[in-house]
Amino acid sequence: MAVERTHKVTLIPGDGIGPEVSAAVVKIVEAAGAASGVGFEWHTYAAGADAFEKTGEYIPKELYESVQQNKVALKGPVTTPVGGGFASINVTLRKKFDLYANFRPVKSLPGLETKYPNIDLIIFRENTEDLYAGLEHEIVPGVAESLKIITEKGSTRIALSAFEYARKHGRKKIHAIHKANIMKLTDGLFLRCCRKVAESFPEIEYKEHIVDNTCMQLVLNPYQYDIILTENLYGDILSDLCSAFVGGLGLVPGANLGVECAIFEAVHGSAPDIAGQNKANPTALLQSAVLMLHHLNETETANKVQAAIEQVYREGKKLTRDVGGSSGTSDFADAVLEALASPVAAS
Ligand code: ATP
Repeated sequence: MAVERTHKVTLIPGDGIGPEVSAAVVKIVEAAGAASGVGFEWHTYAAGADAFEKTGEYIPKELYESVQQNKVALKGPVTTPVGGGFASINVTLRKKFDLYANFRPVKSLPGLETKYPNIDLIIFRENTEDLYAGLEHEIVPGVAESLKIITEKGSTRIALSAFEYARKHGRKKIHAIHKANIMKLTDGLFLRCCRKVAESFPEIEYKEHIVDNTCMQLVLNPYQYDIILTENLYGDILSDLCSAFVGGLGLVPGANLGVECAIFEAVHGSAPDIAGQNKANPTALLQSAVLMLHHLNETETANKVQAAIEQVYREGKKLTRDVGGSSGTSDFADAVLEALASPVAAS
């Protein structure tokens, strides 16, 4: 089919498993788009240690300009050195483009057996503040301090994102997750903002849970949660926990949303333990691309990709090792491409 419209997307393949999963995703998105007359122009940039080697900058100026111009990016994981080195590329990009809402839907895939079937919950994580502000210093040797920043503006806008989403998509319940019994000022402010926003959405049930209890409650009965609304650090930790309900980090997608720009990336990191071995599961980044296609109003292409992913999971023959299969990244990607070419309706 002739290309009717082309989307310019900044592509950050990342490092670790990033290049493998990104290559698979680009192939699949292009194939799905081509069948509907949708083209993509990928503007590709390195970030992190790879970029530093080539350009002397961890985030090249051209990458910033590209995201600013295209307004949409698809991003693989970029390794953040532990305990030293450069600042997290992920956090820096989220702050730079004020991508304040981290949207992470956690949904079971058909055919994939897990301990908790039919999970369908969403995490709305504040993405620019909290202990992630990175305001750390050593007061004297042996004493370090990290500042937790919570603002009325930041808390109100993430709460609004969650409630507006719930209203638009018919979701019923929002839990604000906090530790305001201990962090009375910061988490107390976060909760006050959530409560105020909740007043304008009387049709949505609003509840509050303390974060440690939430971990237990999630494992006991995740079905009690519909939308989780929380701060940056709790959201990060709860996302990994929730990913286990649906089969692990290889599956869960994410979107970093701001007023102007959006960066789509999986919940998982660069997984150095399996990098370069054709073992990584590209589903999480592929489902992030599905979120991106919805964001670009390419609903038909988004639905085609999602249906193809689900077909491959229902058939269960070409799954990667993390979800109990024995296929490699490229075999899984080929299976999704085949499913795109020969769709089978779900029974
Ligand atoms: P970060 O802190 O950067 O988010 P992380 O500490 O959560 O990273 P990951 O790099 O996400 O760690 O990896 C955690 C575990 O999950 C590793 O054992 C890794 O191999 C596995 N894993 C992560 N992503 C995938 C994937 N796409 N496919 C298969 N396994 C994965």
